[in-house]
Amino acid sequence: MTRKRILVTGGAGFLGSYLCEALLGQGHDVLCVDNFFTGSRDNVLHLLDDHRFELMRHDVTFPLYVEVDEIYNLACPASPIHYQFDPVQTVKTNVHGAINVLGLAKRTRARVFQASTSEVYGDPAVHPQPETYRGSVSPIGPRACYDEGKRCAETLFFDYHRQYGVDIRIARIFNTYGPRMNLNDGRVVSNFIVQALKGEPVTLYGDGSQTRSFCYVDDLIDGIVRLVQSPDVIGPINIGNPAEFTVRQLAEMVIEMTNSTSRIEYRPLPQDDPLQRQPDITRARMQLGWQPRVALRDGLARTIEHFEGKLNSASQRIYRPLIPQTSMPLPVANSLALQG
Ligand code: NAD
Ligand code: UDP
Ligand code: UDP
Repeated sequence: MTRKRILVTGGAGFLGSYLCEALLGQGHDVLCVDNFFTGSRDNVLHLLDDHRFELMRHDVTFPLYVEVDEIYNLACPASPIHYQFDPVQTVKTNVHGAINVLGLAKRTRARVFQASTSEVYGDPAVHPQPETYRGSVSPIGPRACYDEGKRCAETLFFDYHRQYGVDIRIARIFNTYGPRMNLNDGRVVSNFIVQALKGEPVTLYGDGSQTRSFCYVDDLIDGIVRLVQSPDVIGPINIGNPAEFTVRQLAEMVIEMTNSTSRIEYRPLPQDDPLQRQPDITRARMQLGWQPRVALRDGLARTIEHFEGKLNSASQRIYRPLIPQTSMPLPVANSLALQG
């Protein structure tokens, strides 16, 4: 394989850091660009000594002139609580960010990958969701900055492809979890594990009957690298684990696996929270020969182990999982790591 210069935007985030690792592992040079909104240097600390790895603080809403052969565009907060903290910035990150990486790809003739999302399907009326489903998204609700931002990014990718011949790839990523998620990420897997390990109430939004399908990070990275390295598959293509669980099942599984004394505490269901979500991965199976390998229980075991270590090393500090507070302003996103 030829050694490439690869740009990863959002490379210091949860998925981005694993992706940088995988690409370095294949012998490529990696330029990791991040504004550290939800990501951190800690996530890529172990890569900094590698001379093929470079870390740059930069916000993708501004132009970036670098010479690269391939681009993975992951920059964008993924947790609802973070992308709703500054919704205008979320739209800019998705739309201006996409225009800038596409402009860069057009000039350098680089292949460019977009980390799209199952959120383009909104609260889906079709189940499971195939790529042909056009979705049911509120353009004005609290999730719209993310959902519509990602939809517009897909539009831009296809228009740059048709109009300028830019070589694009799009994956629609379904809920992915694993070690290295931020303790205060606010998404369901990290919240439940941190709460259960601390013996605090596990916060279940709604009655817990809404479903999600959880993909382990290693499977996800394998899927998107296969897509980008395939000669002709453009996408959009669903990458996720079709095993579907209710959020209540997840809460019970986490409590059991951590031997926790935590009880479940019910909270209101956030507005526009999708009631069901499950990828149809026929395309990924047929076109990429890809399917997930790690079962939820196995992935959770690895993630719980990692969080136990993190909580122990942070024992002097009091971590609180991030959950929406109606009476309190949200904390400043850049200082999310510590509360209490
Ligand atoms: P994350 O929040 O851990 O990572 C996002 C990274 O982007 C962070 O490092 C953040 O600092 C950086 N970032 C945000 N705005 C930026 C900007 N304007 N300029 C530069 N960097 C910026 O989330 P993640 O789970 O690693 O998600 C990565 C990508 O995958 C996102 O685009 C997300 O929408 C997409 N995705 C993730 C999931 C999932 O379940 N993890 C599901 C669907 C889609
Ligand atoms: N751009 C960039 N890096 C590059 C080339 C372009 O950041 O190497 C940005 C540029 O600032 C522009 C955007 O990408 O705003 C879109 O580029 P395009 O060439 O499509 O548009 P134009 O420059 O013609 O407005
Ligand atoms: N959720 C929950 N408790 C939490 C965090 C999330 O019950 O502490 C629910 C949330 O309402 C949603 C599901 O878990 O139904 C997944 O939420 P997450 O924020 O992880 O991602 P989403 O798929 O909604 O973008």
